[in-house]
Amino acid sequence: MTGLELSAPLEMSDGLIRRATEKGSVIVAHSVMSTQTNRVFHESKMIKAQFGDAVTLIGGGPHASARPGELLDAGFDHVVIGEGEKLITDLLWYLMNDKDPREIDGVVSEKRDSYPRPKGLPRVDLDGYPPFALDMNVLGPVEVTRGCPFACKFCCTPFLTGKGVRHRSADSVVKWLNRAAQQRGFRRTWFLSPNAFSYGGKGREMNLDRLENLLKGAASVDGLEEVFFGAFPSEVRPEFVTREALDLLRSYVANETLQIGLQSATDRVLDLANRHHTVEEGLDAIRMSFDCGFTPHVDMMFGLPGETKDELRASIEMCEELAEMGAMVHGHVFMPLPGSAFEAMPPGILDPESRSALGELSRKGVLTGSWSTQETMAAELVSGRE
Ligand code: SF4
Repeated sequence: MTGLELSAPLEMSDGLIRRATEKGSVIVAHSVMSTQTNRVFHESKMIKAQFGDAVTLIGGGPHASARPGELLDAGFDHVVIGEGEKLITDLLWYLMNDKDPREIDGVVSEKRDSYPRPKGLPRVDLDGYPPFALDMNVLGPVEVTRGCPFACKFCCTPFLTGKGVRHRSADSVVKWLNRAAQQRGFRRTWFLSPNAFSYGGKGREMNLDRLENLLKGAASVDGLEEVFFGAFPSEVRPEFVTREALDLLRSYVANETLQIGLQSATDRVLDLANRHHTVEEGLDAIRMSFDCGFTPHVDMMFGLPGETKDELRASIEMCEELAEMGAMVHGHVFMPLPGSAFEAMPPGILDPESRSALGELSRKGVLTGSWSTQETMAAELVSGRE
């Protein structure tokens, strides 16, 4: 077995790969999201055309788990399905020791009639792995919770990470934040969670003691000046927003906003999407956030399957009302994500009137999000599927 030299370049170039091949065998690993397939598959085909077997291509991430065959078609040699922390290290060990990676459950290296699914594969213990690549200086939000017991039909999280909820312990979070602050000058931190207020509980209920333990620990890290929790890239489900939770948050966090997932202005559409909360619960959460000193940043999704024109219009009117109340809106257009229950549904489309109303809200600075490009991305996802 020879040594392994790691690098995490911001951009991949032919020159970089060529120079690496002059030193030895090269492995290029990609984490692929469904919205990135055009760019990644173009790149993987170019790498294979230019370097052939001198470069081994490994793919993982959400799209690899949902559609491994597409990655194999695009030139990837090995595809990691499900949670990658352990599998990627196993796979590297197999490759470096000339062993056959097809022996690893969750790694596929050739087209098959059917592929393993993430739910049949072992789940990792978050504390067993670092939350970011400190040595590579790749520092992102700290993932504190993985898995979600809810099954919103537009979301692929339950497919990818399961319905059981696992949390990174507060001790582990504090340990890594300390290292990031001391070794890399980390000054602020964000957290990643499917539902931030579910931290410490079993998924459907809160455990405010554990949440406080986490926030207190993070806020006490030497050198760390700001802690952001319950704000993008995490969000909270409306029925988890309570005065007690918000008061607790206010004592420790730097964020002025709270990211709340409402998604639609009608209970019928929320039911169709299996959200398990009502519009009124969403509005209660928004009002309570204002009362407790947070500006609500409300996620809304347009073009959900089954949504009528009137219901789309109602959602846009609600965005206008939220803006008048002083809230911000984070707009999305429905994308049939692979792995979600709605993956075979038609993509969300905005009619000209809706697009122009949303454009107006954007110009006023009260609507953010990738809603304008998601319509195109959603159409591309479907054309890939066909
Ligand atoms: S949208 Fe949020 S609550 Fe719903 S399934 Fe996905 S992660 Fe869970």
